[in-house]
Amino acid sequence: MNRLAVITGSNKGIGYELARSLYLKSASPINVYMTSRNESLGLQAVHRLSEERDKVPNPESKLSYHQLDITDPKSISVFKDHLKSKHGTSSIDLLVNNAGIMPKDQDLETAKTTIQTNYFGTVSMTSSLLELMNVKGRVVFISSTLGKLSYHSPQIQKRFLAPDLSLSELDKIELDFIQAATENVLDKAGFNESPYTTSKSGVTMYARILARDYAADPRKLFFGSCCPGWVKTELGGPKAILSLQQGVKTPLYLINGEYDSLYKNNGKFFYQSRVVN
Ligand code: NDP
Repeated sequence: MNRLAVITGSNKGIGYELARSLYLKSASPINVYMTSRNESLGLQAVHRLSEERDKVPNPESKLSYHQLDITDPKSISVFKDHLKSKHGTSSIDLLVNNAGIMPKDQDLETAKTTIQTNYFGTVSMTSSLLELMNVKGRVVFISSTLGKLSYHSPQIQKRFLAPDLSLSELDKIELDFIQAATENVLDKAGFNESPYTTSKSGVTMYARILARDYAADPRKLFFGSCCPGWVKTELGGPKAILSLQQGVKTPLYLINGEYDSLYKNNGKFFYQSRVVN
């Protein structure tokens, strides 16, 4: 039976390259679900990738597509229902939370959208699909070194690092960022001024919380967050130093790396295929 992989935001950039790599390089049969918020762009991407099908090592491997906007609860639930009815529970072997934004604008609305997409969208997508994860399933988060906790004040770092940090407290930190941005007191509140940084700090800590909270789950799920490096994509820009192929190396390490050795570092953040913290 095919393994099933879901990649958010896979119509372009790192998400597309990850779908490409899984489809073209998996020796065992795999069903790669490409998803995008814009259906037409997503279908174009699937079409583009399927043109390379003569390179696929396993003839049973296939590409599937579904619309998915991680900020839209309805879109998430339609996708979840689709997976459940078509593939059943325990169907997802790999979920890559790749979709994200890093807008250049500095206004308040943009700051809110960044937190809502990168953090809250990723959390609602993941928490919704967790019940469909298969035994030894992997949940990989494309976070960023720009989300490093040391970019915040010691007080904010302490909140992020509380060993008993709950998801609702993590949500609260993200909401406090929005509140402080609204009142124009980010510095006083101890936050780095970049909403991208706070959103990615949240994603990295979310992987940690999940590893802790699912430690007794019989499915033995692996959660890992990572930074791909500075990659030439629309988000990374043309001056970025890594090609797409170089940028997917660390995510692919979490996707394909030996399970038991990764599981020893469950919940950790990886950069250049190594555990950072
Ligand atoms: P791109 O801008 O090339 O791709 C981002 C993808 O996310 C697009 O498919 C985009 O869709 C999608 N997306 C955005 N918002 C949503 C949403 N609400 N629902 C579903 N999909 C959405 O960026 P990258 O490939 O560079 O980025 C991928 C991930 O890697 C991001 O999480 C980013 O933060 C992270 N990252 C990237 C780095 C880099 O240097 N490139 C460095 C560190 C981390 P659409 O086409 O519709 O906009």
